[in-house]
Amino acid sequence: MSNKCKQCGKCCTDLVEAAHNVLTIEDVQPWIDEGREDILAWTTPFVDEDGETLYKIWVSPKTGKQVDRCPWVRKLPNKNKYICRIHDVKPSHCRAFKPGSKVAKSIGGRCTKKTKTSRK
Ligand code: SF4
Repeated sequence: MSNKCKQCGKCCTDLVEAAHNVLTIEDVQPWIDEGREDILAWTTPFVDEDGETLYKIWVSPKTGKQVDRCPWVRKLPNKNKYICRIHDVKPSHCRAFKPGSKVAKSIGGRCTKKTKTSRK
């Protein structure tokens, strides 16, 4: 089985099943430092019961509600593939996402299907 990312977009287009929808300051600080108001506009800070400031993502600036589809995922024209428009600064859980993992399986990611692998 291949665990290579097939860019199916499942992990980014159906966030209902996503394990992480809250970030800590470690993820958000680079966006603050770089003046990424476009990204920050999709976050909502709140203070948890321990007094730590956390950030809900991805919260629509228009409706104030979390969205099911990440605002940064884009389908490539004329292809059944998706890309992340904030790849270089995406949240740590997105960077740590493992194609072929349990989470990928649970959301039906294409990376969990059996594929033929060629020998080198
Ligand atoms: S930030 Fe990028 S990798 Fe993370 S869910 Fe959105 S599109 Fe996917």
